[in-house]
Amino acid sequence: MRRKAFTLVEILVVIVVIGMIMAFLVPSALQSMRTANVKACDANFRAIDSAIAMCMAERRDGTANGCGAQANLLTYLPNGAWPVCPVTPGVAYTVTAGATAAAMPTTTTSRAAHFNANGTHM
Ligand SMILES: [Zn+2]
Repeated sequence: MRRKAFTLVEILVVIVVIGMIMAFLVPSALQSMRTANVKACDANFRAIDSAIAMCMAERRDGTANGCGAQANLLTYLPNGAWPVCPVTPGVAYTVTAGATAAAMPTTTTSRAAHFNANGTHM
């Protein structure tokens, strides 16, 4: 009794077709993942900025007393944890104190370490 099987050429054609499909899909999938991660990084900055604003609003003494400290902002952040950039996990988010006691701390310096002037994530 003869066994039904694929010929070598048929198997090679299937492998080549799968390879061509992967060649088209993998780069766009990687680009989509990067775009999502960049948007997540941007959202992390917005979360920290609003945490600073909420901290300042609760102080009610007109100063930024403690609102520049990472530990004091955790209660205002989602999950109570300091976020980590999904694109460059080694580059931590930092908060810079304002120029005066009453000035709101900012993430501007830290943002510059993540996004260049064109808004592209580094
Ligand atoms: Zn980032």
